[in-house]
Amino acid sequence: MNAEKDCIFCKIVAGEIPAHKVYEDEKTYAFLDRTPINQGHTLVIPKKHAADVFEIEESEWQAVMKTARVVAHALEKALGAEGVNVDTNNRAAAGQVVFHSHVHVIPRFSGDGFEHWKGHPYAPGEAETIRMKVLSALS
Ligand code: AMP
Ligand code: ZN
Repeated sequence: MNAEKDCIFCKIVAGEIPAHKVYEDEKTYAFLDRTPINQGHTLVIPKKHAADVFEIEESEWQAVMKTARVVAHALEKALGAEGVNVDTNNRAAAGQVVFHSHVHVIPRFSGDGFEHWKGHPYAPGEAETIRMKVLSALS
């Protein structure tokens, strides 16, 4: 399978399938998610195909995050969003369904019912073990 040829978001960028575009610049494209968590829920994507945060070039990722911020301000101004979630799912284990990198910008309103994740505290000593593993990966 050719990832780009069969990619639904590449087809949106190419104008081959319709989308409700809200913003576009040299490197990025933003359009309304077709199944919004709240109305105005927007997806920001790089025009150049990359599957996820692991694969995307740094400059492309920076461009996507810059546009996410522009969209956040627009959702506040246009829809009265009281907050936004800027979220990205990467790879199937993280819930990614469309394998063209994208960032969700979701307008939020007090009491809108969208629940936060439930975290689990570390057992004593665990956080330091995890920190050492991450540090060694970064060195
Ligand atoms: P995920 O890969 O889990 O981050 O989710 C993919 C998102 O893309 C979902 O929220 C879908 O509703 C959305 N989506 C998939 N196809 C389209 C499309 N053609 N137009 C707009 N949104 C889409
Ligand atoms: Zn693509």
